[in-house]
Amino acid sequence: MIYLDHNATTPPAPGVVQAMLATMTDVWGNASSQHAQGQQAKRALAAARATVARVLGCKPSEVIFTSGATEANHLAVLGLHSAVKEAGRQRIVFSAVEHAGHLALARALMAQGVPVDFIGVHADGTLDLDSAAGLIGPDVALVSVMAANNETGVLMPVDEVRALAHAAGARMHVDATQLVGKAPFDFARLGADAVSLSAHKLRGPKGIGALLLRQGVALTPQVQGSQERRRRGGTENLPAIAGFAAALEDLGDVAAAAVRIAQLRDALEQGLQRALPGVHVFSAQAPRVAGTSYLRFGPLAAEVALQRMAQLGVSASSGAACSSGGSEPSHVLTAMGVPRDEALGAVRLSLGEATTARDIEYLLAALPLLLAPLLDNYAAQAA
Ligand code: PMP
Repeated sequence: MIYLDHNATTPPAPGVVQAMLATMTDVWGNASSQHAQGQQAKRALAAARATVARVLGCKPSEVIFTSGATEANHLAVLGLHSAVKEAGRQRIVFSAVEHAGHLALARALMAQGVPVDFIGVHADGTLDLDSAAGLIGPDVALVSVMAANNETGVLMPVDEVRALAHAAGARMHVDATQLVGKAPFDFARLGADAVSLSAHKLRGPKGIGALLLRQGVALTPQVQGSQERRRRGGTENLPAIAGFAAALEDLGDVAAAAVRIAQLRDALEQGLQRALPGVHVFSAQAPRVAGTSYLRFGPLAAEVALQRMAQLGVSASSGAACSSGGSEPSHVLTAMGVPRDEALGAVRLSLGEATTARDIEYLLAALPLLLAPLLDNYAAQAA
């Protein structure tokens, strides 16, 4: 089996499973309890928080553990927005290509009457900074833009957007879920007010993530309770937090891994383009995170290509993974101006730490044999 869907989730690193098992077995106390078991859990929580903070370049007090990036995104947007009290500063600006769950939140806010705008993207999937500059004005409370897109892998100019947001007196939130673990990351250097991330995208467990919140930034809690300095209530999920910390500690030299994975990604794209007619790579010329390849095989529908890959034991996903069933084109490709029929052919191959040169060689040897006859059929029909 060859797993090429690392943007959806990653297999847990061995140290992660060990850390979680050890925590569940030995450190099962409630970190808020005063007795010995509670104090042991409190120390383990503090140690994990210190690790997370060290690896991510923030202070331990700036880490708010959540159930994942979806919750962290909600906490950031709802919590930062409702902390802004000026009546004339209520607008929220998102990019048009945020994660589906994040755009659903944007639409829910619009339905409640909150003014919301969307920054567009260019045909190559990069953010339209002119559009951003035009939208970010003195009525904006918050700007929320992702660091790297989960479908195309395109890196967004979050430094420039942060500068625009702060110049306008607005808060800046970055969804860095698809960046952390794939490229070097440092919260303090990024300078955003809040950053979301998720453990399961970087070989940690599912159901745990964090919102990093810059010290001194006002946030209205969305889940009440005394935990996480009253910013997110609920007994801490200590096994998952320990697993999250272990995954971050295990990341190693992210920049070196990115070079290796980008080489494999490029070999994959070039090999497919050499072997088959009509292979189009979306955002090929844009700056992208290392492992993401988003492409279309001529006129083939995504399900057809994915089904042939499954026959070969290769797991990948379509661009419209979140609306699987497949009839709706990806909102990211739609925002890029890709026609509907082309968008419905989009297949995402996302490589990771475990991907080897042999995996790519196998795919390049086997997949063209299955797809070439289909593409020839289309060409014959069109002729
Ligand atoms: N944001 C982005 C950019 C993502 O790729 C994902 C996961 N697909 C999420 C948010 C949601 O993360 P989680 O699964 O931790 O809720």
